[in-house]
Amino acid sequence: MGLTGKFEANFITMKLDQAVNWSRKWSLWPMTFGLACCAIEMIAVVASRYDLDRFGAGVFRGSPRQSDLMIVAGTVCRRMAPVIRKVYDQMPEPRYVIAMGSCATSGNIYDSYSVVQGVDRFVPVDIYIPGCPPTPEALIEGVMRLQDQISKKKVFIKA
Ligand code: SF4
Repeated sequence: MGLTGKFEANFITMKLDQAVNWSRKWSLWPMTFGLACCAIEMIAVVASRYDLDRFGAGVFRGSPRQSDLMIVAGTVCRRMAPVIRKVYDQMPEPRYVIAMGSCATSGNIYDSYSVVQGVDRFVPVDIYIPGCPPTPEALIEGVMRLQDQISKKKVFIKA
């Protein structure tokens, strides 16, 4: 049997930017930063009912060196802020941050000297997910919105 017609069936062509972004968006390695009740919903998202692995983001790591996505889930107290920043700095680039829940996005009802009014006060946030707590579906939606952002990024810039 000859190779006639096989070329089209077995090859795809795309820009290098698209290929890199495609790889990145389907292989996110989250690092957990569960700080309060929202963490329970974050944990649920990797269990069998919601199965975040379907979106290429189900392998949570314990080390920032092996992660490119930080999910901050919970109330951020002032003493924890420098720790989160330090862990963020240890993550390799490109790296992304999701602020999950009203506490992480804005401090929620805890307008207090001891609570940071949003994790974006000390790390850049890519996706904000409101709710107290957000549902696992909302976190999945947030991951999908992040994937949309990643697929539009410029990887190679002409000199
Ligand atoms: S947003 Fe609500 S559920 Fe989430 S950590 Fe704050 S108080 Fe808890």
